[in-house]
Amino acid sequence: MTRRSVLLLVLASSLARAEGRRATDAYLDETRARWERLARQIWDTPELGLSETRSAAALVEVLQKEGFHVTWGVGGEATAFVATAGSGTPVVALLAEYDALPGLSQAAGQPKKQPLKEGAPGHGCGHNLLGTAGVAAAVAANRERQARKLQGTIQLFGTPAEEILFGKTFMIRDGAFKSTDVVLTWHPDDQNRVTNRTRLAVSAVDVQFFGRAAHAAASPWLGRSALDALMLFDHALALMREHIKPTARIHRVLREAGEAPNIIPDHTRAEYWLRDSTGDSVSEMLGRLRKAADGAALATETRAQVDLTFSVREPVPNDALDAVVQRELERVGPPRFDEAEVGFAKAMQKELGFEELGLATSVMPYAQKNGGTASSDIGEVSAAVPLAELNVATRPLGTAAHHWAQTSCAAHPVGYKGMAVAAKVLGASAVDLLADPAAVKAAKDAFVVATKGKPYVTPLPPDVKPHAPR
Ligand SMILES: [Zn+2]
Repeated sequence: MTRRSVLLLVLASSLARAEGRRATDAYLDETRARWERLARQIWDTPELGLSETRSAAALVEVLQKEGFHVTWGVGGEATAFVATAGSGTPVVALLAEYDALPGLSQAAGQPKKQPLKEGAPGHGCGHNLLGTAGVAAAVAANRERQARKLQGTIQLFGTPAEEILFGKTFMIRDGAFKSTDVVLTWHPDDQNRVTNRTRLAVSAVDVQFFGRAAHAAASPWLGRSALDALMLFDHALALMREHIKPTARIHRVLREAGEAPNIIPDHTRAEYWLRDSTGDSVSEMLGRLRKAADGAALATETRAQVDLTFSVREPVPNDALDAVVQRELERVGPPRFDEAEVGFAKAMQKELGFEELGLATSVMPYAQKNGGTASSDIGEVSAAVPLAELNVATRPLGTAAHHWAQTSCAAHPVGYKGMAVAAKVLGASAVDLLADPAAVKAAKDAFVVATKGKPYVTPLPPDVKPHAPR
């Protein structure tokens, strides 16, 4: 930055503070079109986990122009990066996610399902907004850090493969968050709130059965069916559902189930995900799943193999850090949607058969257990370092992520307005923390209490490397 632009920023900063509006807000308002273009660029080229080369490069380009130092390839993931600006403590970090989901291609701003390309990926979780707002907040906070000559470091973690729930876990194992004091992040949603104590822990396993092939008509007695084993196993888990906690979830897809009915299948494979409100409960269910696999193998004279593919715990709550973000969320306020946007939201709700409630118009008061039950690898980050998560409305009330509705809104003013609020809240919160070491200390103290001072232990087996789903 030139001396003149620093002086102008200092002036803008003090003026904005005088009128209750922050310099980070003012900067983000002035540069709004730039962030919307970036979010749209990422939306236009949706990339699946570990393949987000163009999306990550687009974010890094902006950060480098702003003077951030960037390291690529963290945690053995080519599309992971860490961008750093400033020096010393406190070290305040923001997160960016940018992966898309398979099969959620959808025309922008359409209230009805209308894939741009049938079966192609799409930003059905709004990670184009998530990543862009994280970067915008980091840039805005860094400008104010320079203008006010604040001590400390701003980090922006580019975290790939969130949808396959392990991007950040590998980054942590690689030591990426070692020097970080606090982490702030957000997720697109249908509400405006600071989330805590609702996301579920999850473990995923690959279950395989190995049998013996035979001609299904000529000599079936010589075969041992890996499909029989898989069906018996799946039935055992279906029965187990009656005997798990109401908070638990079991879901699956069958990946390989034989080639032709006249060949006894000698190999089958399926993916099962186990979720509950605590990682301990998930571990207990995993033990039962392993018994069911061995039992099915015993009954069918086949062999079972169960491999853990990832594991994510429930986020560790941090009320002290949440308070910083809640205060800024209440100051910035909810996205202000206009009549046309509310009309669009209601048309979408009508199409989906939901109540036509429009869009969230308020900020939820802070409460324990605000948020949704979807899992995220931010759970792992929160167990390694204090973390707070924000939700901002980027889609109509009642609609969910992992749906074409979010893809549609993620390249539409409804999504962009939510993104702008998220960037302002996160940018101002990051500056609050840089300027107030006591607030950082309070977050770290709360973290020690919540984790009972136990060091972070990775759930990843030592030999597991990041890989896209088979
Ligand atoms: Zn997501």
